Amino acid sequence: MSDPRLGFHTDHCRCSPATGGCGEYFNSTFAFDRHRTGQPGLDRRCLTEHEMLAAGMSRNASGYWISRSLPAPRVAAVTRPAPQGAAISTAPLPKQHRASLRGTFHQ
Ligand SMILES: [Zn+2]
Repeated sequence: MSDPRLGFHTDHCRCSPATGGCGEYFNSTFAFDRHRTGQPGLDRRCLTEHEMLAAGMSRNASGYWISRSLPAPRVAAVTRPAPQGAAISTAPLPKQHRASLRGTFHQ
């Protein structure tokens, strides 16, 4: 995977300009499918940014298009700061820890 914005364990996808796409990033294949319109082989194309917004799609905080805006309660849940002492470290795991996780995964 050469594009760092396309995580290995995510459903993120990009509409590749190499195949005539618009180059936008999508949070899911569902959102990707929503930005394509027309009949394959006839007039298949990407929606413009304006058309995507008009269809209720939006970009999330990471810049990926999502099929619709997050409902307000979910936005609150995502943006609410973690309680004191409950913060989850986002630092990379120590090497040996990662190795043991991998071992567990494959057993
Ligand atoms: Zn596209």
